[in-house]
Order: sequence, then C-alpha cells, then structure tokens
Amino acid sequence: MVRTIVQDRPTRTLPANCDVAILGAGMAGMATAARLQAQGMATVVLEAHGHAGGCAGYYRRRGFSFDVGATTLVDFEPGGVGAELLASVGMPMPDAEALPGYVAWLPDRVVTLYRDRAAWHAERLRALGDTTNHRAFWAFLDRLASVFWAASRDGVRLPVRRLDDAAHNLRAIGLRNLPLARHATTTLGDALRRYGLRDDAPVVGLLSMLVEDTVHSTVDRAPLINSALGVTIRGAGLSRASGGMRGFWRPFVDHYRRLGGDLRTNCPVERVDGTAGAFLVHTRRGVLNAAQVVSALPASSTARLCAATEERLAPYLRRDSDALGGALVVALGVPECEVDGQAFTHHQLLQDYGRPLGDGTNMFVSVSAPGDTESAPPGHRAVMVSTHTELASWEGLGAEAYEARKQEMSDRLIGLARRVYPMLGEHAVVREIGTPRTYGRYALRPRGAVGGVRQTPANANQHAVPHDLGVPGFWQVGDSTWPGLGTVACVVGSRIVAARALRSGRRVR
Ligand SMILES: Cc1cc2nc3c(=O)[nH]c(=O)nc-3n(C[C@H](O)[C@H](O)[C@H](O)COP(=O)(O)OP(=O)(O)OC[C@H]3O[C@@H](n4cnc5c(N)ncnc54)[C@H](O)[C@@H]3O)c2cc1C
Repeated sequence: MVRTIVQDRPTRTLPANCDVAILGAGMAGMATAARLQAQGMATVVLEAHGHAGGCAGYYRRRGFSFDVGATTLVDFEPGGVGAELLASVGMPMPDAEALPGYVAWLPDRVVTLYRDRAAWHAERLRALGDTTNHRAFWAFLDRLASVFWAASRDGVRLPVRRLDDAAHNLRAIGLRNLPLARHATTTLGDALRRYGLRDDAPVVGLLSMLVEDTVHSTVDRAPLINSALGVTIRGAGLSRASGGMRGFWRPFVDHYRRLGGDLRTNCPVERVDGTAGAFLVHTRRGVLNAAQVVSALPASSTARLCAATEERLAPYLRRDSDALGGALVVALGVPECEVDGQAFTHHQLLQDYGRPLGDGTNMFVSVSAPGDTESAPPGHRAVMVSTHTELASWEGLGAEAYEARKQEMSDRLIGLARRVYPMLGEHAVVREIGTPRTYGRYALRPRGAVGGVRQTPANANQHAVPHDLGVPGFWQVGDSTWPGLGTVACVVGSRIVAARALRSGRRVR
C-alpha cells in the first residue's frame, strides 16, 4: 500500500519558539495540541508524514479514500470521551454515521453486536447461552464496564504517580465502587473460570476476538477491567465519519489551525535536547525552541530521539519487547454490487475456535456507508479488511518472498471475507495490502508494530508507561502509554497530558 504524500502547506521556516512542541500528528498528538491551543498555549505539531492521522490516518487512490488503521470514531456521542475532546476545543462533530453495531461471524453461528443495550442483552443470551452462569458473567462484565467507562469519561489517571492522582481517581470511580478496583490484577480468563465458562467455545471465541482487537491480548492474559471496556466498546458508540478518517482529520486540522495552532507536515523530528523552559527540537527543517515537549510517538521512538528519556523508558521497553504486534490491511475499491445484501457495514470474523488468532483467523471487514461519495466514487464502496500479524513473520524477507507473502495474505483475507460478501474483490478497481513494513515506512512505527503492547496485568494500568517520565516539562502520550491501544485511549491520554502541560506552563509563566 502506498500512501500519497500531499504537502498540505507550503514549507515555511519554523517559528523561533513556542510554549509546547508536539511530536507526531496522530490522534494523541493532535488531540493534545488542540486542547492546549484552545487554552491559549502556543503549540507547534511536528509531523514526519504529509498529513495528520498516523495509524488512524488515510490515503487516497483513484477516487477512493481508505483508512489505514482505525475506521471508527469511538465514544464521540454526547457525554463521551471523544465528545469531551470536541467540546473542550470548541469544534462541532464532523458529519458521521452512528453505527448500530456490527456482526460477529463465529465458526458455527452469527452474533449481532448491537449498540443498543437491550438488544445486545437479548442477543447474547439467544446466541451464546442462557444459563444462570451466562447471565451472572455478563452482569458482572456489565457492572465493571459501566463503572470504568464512567471513570474514563471523568478523566481517571493512571499510572498513579502522585497523591492528587489517587484522590482524583477515588472521586472518578466513587467510594462505593472502589472494591471493584481489586480486579485490576486479574484477567478475563480468571473471570470466565469463576463463572464456569472458560471452556464455553462460543463465549470464549467471541471474547477472544474482541479483546485481541481492543487490548491486543488473549483471554487468559488480558487484564479484566481493560477487557470489560474493550468488549463493550460498541456500546460506547462507534461512528464512521463521512469520507472515513479523512472526513474527521480535515475539519479537525482546519479547526486546530483556526485556533492558531501550527501543524508542520513533512517535518521529521531528529533529536530533542535541552531542559524544561528551553528544549531544542531538531528537525530536518530547522530547530524549534519549546518550553515543553509532548512526544506523541511510540515510546521506543521517544527514547531514541530524546536522550533524557532513554534511561527512564529502558525498563519498560525491555519488558515489552516481546509484547508487540503488527497488522495487515487490505484496501479494496469495489463496485457497490459486491457488498450488497448485508444490513451492517462492519463485520468481525473468527475462523476457528481452536487456532491462535491473527493472519486472518480473526479479521475485521469495514465497508464505507452507502452514498458516502467522500469514501468512494458513486456506485462504488471502499472496503478495508484487517487482521493482526506477527512482526517476525514479515522480517528478513527478500523482495521476492515479501511480494509472494503479500499476495498470499491478500488472497487469503479476501477469500475469508467472502463468507460475508461472496463476490468481494472480483472486479476491484483498487486492491492493495499494507503490512508491518508499510506502517514502518509511512507511520514510522518501529519494526512496523502498531497499537501498543499486548496488555497483561503486569504491563497495563499501574504498570503502563507513564505520561510523566520524570523529565520536567516532557510528556509522553499515545498508544504506548496508558490506557493503550485505540483512538479513544489516545483521547483519554491527551486529556491527562494537556492538563499537566497546562499546569506546568502556568507555573513557568
Ligand atoms: C489496522 C488497524 C486497525 C485499527 N482499528 C482501530 C479501530 O477501529 N478503532 C480504534 O480506536 N483504534 C484502532 N486502531 C488503533 C489506532 O489507530 C491507534 O492506536 C492510534 O491511531 C494510535 O495513535 P497515536 O497518536 O498514539 O500514534 P500514531 O498514529 O502512530 O501517530 C504518531 C505520528 O507520529 C509521526 N511520527 C513518527 N515518528 C516521527 C518523527 N520522528 N518526527 C515527526 N513525526 C513522527 C507518525 O507519522 C504518526 O503520524 C487500529 C490500528 C490499526 C493499525
């Protein structure tokens, strides 16, 4: 997959200085920058690529707009985490379709993951079993999800580093719900065992798919609270902007610039040195002086570019070096008739209850909405098929072996997606595949790893990479810090980091 590099602003000299330099214009970087700019701080975002978006970005090809990673906006409806971001920067919600849910295709049955609570409660009992244990397990998961979604929306802060974090979290979770925090050290597998459901293949199969996508982990390793949030993510509201992620980024970047923010694209950061009040951010286009720095790059990139953080990040990077994963995405531009016949536009497929997930065993199919001519020319639709993959299986391949593997995986993913859309890809106008090499090249993700670490109780929440690395005036945000994977997690992190940078900026002034 080749992403078109569009220089959306003519090159200008960097300003001499700013209050906060933000490294990287993915969801985490742009959300943090917009919040700070809206509060009157002078921000500059430095982005290596030709436009904003990173792993939640897009590329255009032959009249289609394809999402390169995230295809949905999570929790952007009133009261949600995303809605709070838009409200805090004074931006209206872009034109978007609220998804009524999506369909999970298990090996032996189909389950509709309705957004509507009552419909979902009925569906899970109908499709997955209606015993006392099933009911008790789902009720327990619902309780966790409701308490911790509310806490996330209230801005809970992890890892706890200071007394005021603990006090703030206590308020966000509520004294009454505090006993639930003991589940922070247990896994989803533990909960399934407690309710006698660990060997229930359809329940475990469905949960496995959902936690792999949201927590990047298996049921026996995934932290329980994070899993409860991940499993209920569609209840938090998924929407797809008209034009896909491009339909989100264009108004968001315009709004940031109207606030006075300065986004510099095609401007890779090469080194950061200096100290609070006087950081020097070296880029290919000159040096920027910044009172504070927010790195919205993967933690390993931060450690490489900013020597002051290297030692502090090293234990986390060593611990998590085997917990990274990659993704494959097939982008298809197809005639409308190839995606006819389904009420929902988003589908998740599990091929086998017994096999490890990835490389198509668990995959996601997203189709642009009918009539969304920002995503596809009239009479056509943009389709993204994605799955997880092991990084090692793409490393060290020669050119020929790499091309052959791309072809094999693209055929396999399209073939598997034909369970939902039998004619998919037969007359594709565009057919391209992105691999870990693509993410390495176009989003500068080290080794092409995407989506943060595979979470376990030992590396998540209180053990996650902190936003405050202990270097005054320097902050880390994005999917390698708490809460982790996903655009909604990046937005939660941006709120915490913006609040800290704002407070610290006021102190300096
Ligand atoms: C296939 C796939 C499907 C996904 N699906 C979903 C989904 O449905 N819902 C969801 O919520 N999430 C999803 N995600 C996850 C989500 O996209 C990411 O977790 C999130 O976008 C990460 O944002 P970020 O800002 O932390 O990092 P990034 O998006 O990686 O942003 C970092 C930015 O920094 C830039 N950069 C890197 N190095 C430098 C440098 N030296 N100088 C300047 N700039 C630099 C990069 O170009 C990039 O723009 C998916 C991810 C993938 C890969």
